[in-house]
Amino acid sequence: MLRKFRKIVFLTGAGISAESGLATFRDTNGLWNNYDAEVVASLHGFQANPSLVHQFYNELRKQMFAAQPNSAHLALTHLQQHSHADIQIITQNIDTLHEKALSQNVWHIHGQINQLRCINCGKITETWEPWAENHRCCSCFGELRPNIVFFGEEIFFSPKIEQLLNEADLFVAIGTSGTIPPASTFVCDVRQHSGLTIALNLEKPANYRDFDIVINGQISKTLPRFIEKLLIYQ
Ligand SMILES: [Zn+2]
Repeated sequence: MLRKFRKIVFLTGAGISAESGLATFRDTNGLWNNYDAEVVASLHGFQANPSLVHQFYNELRKQMFAAQPNSAHLALTHLQQHSHADIQIITQNIDTLHEKALSQNVWHIHGQINQLRCINCGKITETWEPWAENHRCCSCFGELRPNIVFFGEEIFFSPKIEQLLNEADLFVAIGTSGTIPPASTFVCDVRQHSGLTIALNLEKPANYRDFDIVINGQISKTLPRFIEKLLIYQ
């Protein structure tokens, strides 16, 4: 089913970063276990206890700063550098491993760990340093929150994502469980426009029936092999 594609969209989730040692919400150990996800990933939780939420993201930022991209991230960069197709990466991950792997066209729909946003003027501040509640926006002195999409908030870049999905002739979901909307529905948007849809995941994703092809296995192994096959046609 592989052929020459013009517009390829990848969707990446926690599974691609897990092999770089980053734990996820669902892991039973690690940083997430010490905090209540309902508190650190909600606007209500931030408003009630901003210093606790900053403390959590400070620890997470430190872990993510130290993490290194794995062979799956590097394979995507390799494809971008050796293909004539337009290749976009939509990521649910807040780490910057795609950027560390020197990938281009990365869309962080859930935000980035190295960004904070002024709740007053919207100005983005980039930092890898710990952030304290009393550090304020340098433009308006407003309070800063993590530039992370909390539970119940809209994803970032929504109109652009819709356009990419509508135009894609190949959509590949990598390391994403298929349980978190709206990302879990992206595959259906692509199928409506007859794009080929493929999922690579450790186990079958929850929405596996929506895909044309599902490849199970360790992503750091399956993705480089898949990219090599894909490159024959590009
Ligand atoms: Zn401001």
